[in-house]
Amino acid sequence: MGKLYVIGIGPGGLDHLTIKAKKAIEESDIIVGYTKYITMVEPLLEGKEIFKTGMKGEEERCRKAIELTKDNKTVSVISTGDAGIYGMAGLILQLENTADVEIIPGVTASSAAASVLGAPLMHDNCNISLSDLMTPYELIKKRVELAAEGDFVISLYNPKSMGRPHYLRECLELVKKHRDGKTPIGVVKNALRDGQEVRIFTLDNFDENVVDMFSIVIIGNSQSYAENNRIITPRGYKVR
Ligand code: SAH
Repeated sequence: MGKLYVIGIGPGGLDHLTIKAKKAIEESDIIVGYTKYITMVEPLLEGKEIFKTGMKGEEERCRKAIELTKDNKTVSVISTGDAGIYGMAGLILQLENTADVEIIPGVTASSAAASVLGAPLMHDNCNISLSDLMTPYELIKKRVELAAEGDFVISLYNPKSMGRPHYLRECLELVKKHRDGKTPIGVVKNALRDGQEVRIFTLDNFDENVVDMFSIVIIGNSQSYAENNRIITPRGYKVR
């Protein structure tokens, strides 16, 4: 078997690709990934063999990548953000857990969006995906409610898709049971890539219509506040 890299390419713009990720892509003979992610790293792909797949071909994509390494080739599977956070790293290791597989981390959407919003994640925080493709909705709601009760800052990945437009609203209702209506919420669409849009709301005046599948929603904890178009979560330093 050749080498198999599983690479997180960051949020999209090449400025936020790590040097290690860039080196691994350059070293690869073959790149495997969802069509849209391939486009994001296009300038680095000259002369390489590309294997593109559609949105739901994850397992096919991973099996293909593993198979392609058999001729002693170096192959990279790419995910946006971090490949270990709702990306391809887990599935690849479930299928092929050998020393020839190397996972290369990337800047995940919550970190990218947090940098744009200010410093919302500063204290204990968690990621929850609202996609029910892999997780039953009942369990998603349970996690949202317990995270709210535990006063975690919550980053909602996959906050909306056509098939489940009401999930976001229902989950925010659960958060409201444990958190003040003035709690700030940031929505960042296309963080750190073309088409970036940033909005700051509160739990009470939240407009779910601005949210789509290219957005991430970050809900502050009980101490978070908004000021000058930024969300800040204090970490306990007494500065004012
Ligand atoms: N592995 C990725 C997450 C994939 S799940 C990571 O670590 O970032 C896909 C979801 O991630 C999207 O629905 C969206 O909620 C979020 N996302 C990914 N990139 C984003 C970006 N640049 N800006 C805002 N949200 C993003």
